[in-house]
Amino acid sequence: MAKCPKCGTEVASPTKTWTLAPKGRKAVTIGLFKCPNCGAYFRAGIK
Ligand SMILES: [Zn+2]
Repeated sequence: MAKCPKCGTEVASPTKTWTLAPKGRKAVTIGLFKCPNCGAYFRAGIK
């Protein structure tokens, strides 16, 4: 679940996900979300 930065709509599932694992740091899952309300694409970390 992520919130659109433009209109605040909650988007339930990401279009695409990938893992970002910087050396020596904890891996983070990033999701690419598309807002169904305004059509904006945005990235957000997934817990
Ligand atoms: Zn939006």
